[in-house]
Amino acid sequence: MHLVTDLSALGWTPDRAAELPAGSVPARVSRVDRGRLSVLTADGESRVHPGAALYDESGLSGPAVGDWVAVRGELAVAVLPRTSAFVRTVAGRTSAAQVVAANLDTVLVVDAVRALLPPGHTGAMVGPSGVGKSSLVNALFGEAIADTGEIRENDGRGRHTTTARELHLLPGGGLLVDTPGMRELALYDDTEGVDTAYADVTALAADCRFRDCQHRTEPGCAVAAAIDDGSLDPARYSAWRKLQAEAHRQLLRVDARARAAEKARLRSFHRAIREQPNRLR
Ligand SMILES: [Zn+2]
Repeated sequence: MHLVTDLSALGWTPDRAAELPAGSVPARVSRVDRGRLSVLTADGESRVHPGAALYDESGLSGPAVGDWVAVRGELAVAVLPRTSAFVRTVAGRTSAAQVVAANLDTVLVVDAVRALLPPGHTGAMVGPSGVGKSSLVNALFGEAIADTGEIRENDGRGRHTTTARELHLLPGGGLLVDTPGMRELALYDDTEGVDTAYADVTALAADCRFRDCQHRTEPGCAVAAAIDDGSLDPARYSAWRKLQAEAHRQLLRVDARARAAEKARLRSFHRAIREQPNRLR
């Protein structure tokens, strides 16, 4: 439990002070047990008894999680007015209602997150390390499948908890890619991509004699041959090259590993030039 010296860290707003009975201190209810309340205060967590004055007939008046209560000694003497409340009607009774949680600023509808991933739909999460991506994966599964790790105490930054990219099949049918903390991500959508739109050029290139053919002056280049015999429009070919280069750049941006491989490839290329200048001339 972290100590907070500033009540605003617990959600306290100064306008609530007017509602505070004299001689009491504010505390926020963190847990409601039978006959006992766990509360968070500026001094940390403590347990207090709920006074009889906190309850009335309605059932809506008892302290709920999130409530601010006025505490005197070990007794909660009042529930401060709520700014909002989650109210649930109790099954089997028509009029009775129960406050589930009070003073909410934001409601995160995790059912809605699941709805974003209907059966057969693939999603990925993007966010810095330590924001809770793995916890969300676990929540969507209803069991712990991703290692969440803990936030480092010394600098508050998240440990790198996800070390590999994983595709998870969710119980509801969707698929979710659990990614390591990605800093730069460019979504490369291949459905309208180079290979689809330029299937003819891609097929020609696959027929070149050399696998790494640059389609310039290499012998046995099927692309050059097709341009020569007029079956391939040179403008179409240069558009394909441009798109290929762009797709290549995108991939490099997405994948740091590809970037490292590209660096290594260039390094060995330059070494080859230094060592065998005649062969490459
Ligand atoms: Zn070629």
